[in-house]
Amino acid sequence: MVDCLKNTIRAATLRDNTMYQIKRFLKSMFLCLFFWANLVNAGEPSIRVVTSFSILENLVNELGGQYVSVINLVSRNSDAHMYQPKPSDAVSIAKADLVVFNGLGFEGWIPRLIKNSGYKNKQIIASEGVDAIKNGKEIDPHAWQSFHNIRLYVQNITQALIELRPQHVKALTKRQQKYLGSISNLEKRLKKQFASIPSNKRIVVTSHDAFGYLGREFNVRFLAPLGLSIEVEASAEDVAAIIDQIREQNVKALFVENINNPRLLELISGETNVAIGGRLYSDALSEIKGPADTYLKMMRHNIESLINRLNTH
Ligand code: ZN
Repeated sequence: MVDCLKNTIRAATLRDNTMYQIKRFLKSMFLCLFFWANLVNAGEPSIRVVTSFSILENLVNELGGQYVSVINLVSRNSDAHMYQPKPSDAVSIAKADLVVFNGLGFEGWIPRLIKNSGYKNKQIIASEGVDAIKNGKEIDPHAWQSFHNIRLYVQNITQALIELRPQHVKALTKRQQKYLGSISNLEKRLKKQFASIPSNKRIVVTSHDAFGYLGREFNVRFLAPLGLSIEVEASAEDVAAIIDQIREQNVKALFVENINNPRLLELISGETNVAIGGRLYSDALSEIKGPADTYLKMMRHNIESLINRLNTH
């Protein structure tokens, strides 16, 4: 580096100070800086993170920035409940510095996958600390559908990144604060808009029971024929009960989801003459450049869709 700079300065001062020489000098300076910056980066590899599904992938990238390189397992618009791990997933995990998964039983397949990969490095449960909703013996894993809970996810992820790169505590904390600020702004705006919806209109039907936490936070009752996971098919009795409820309570908000087949909801829509109100993003983000390609955009899309539907019917 020092030799490089010396040569640059010598080259510039030995000759006449023409524009050509100035340009050459600046070009050499840029080259020196470029190689120096690369040397600095080469000295510190990024934290290799494996995330179980797209919402966590987005959170880790938002919070880790240039300090992380993320490999995600269950892709966008895909269902993590029914995921079948691939051999390459075990390879990705084996090479990681950190594995982040949701917990609360969402990724039933992940403990075995981690064990089989021989992975011994750090792993965290992003939902650690949330006040979980329980339906009898079943725990609702969809804790990310809540602004309150996502702050805990943010805290858990940032803490893990700082433990792995304590020298960047300042930069990582700054990223965390910025992201928490964006969450608060969005939450405040959406809660204000939601306040105008009368409480007797706040009933929504979706395919599976993925919005219990959102319902608790926004005072909305969500009904679903499929229950907390999609592993068990809806029975004819379940579907009939939902149809009865829609008729009795005059429900006007039916939404399909991005991760599963809309057929069941279309059937219910046909039986009740209530139109499908749109698509909600439940357990995965949309494709890149889609309406819900980040966590914050997903929350905005879902809640604005509910507001539009519930306010106009
Ligand atoms: Zn789900």
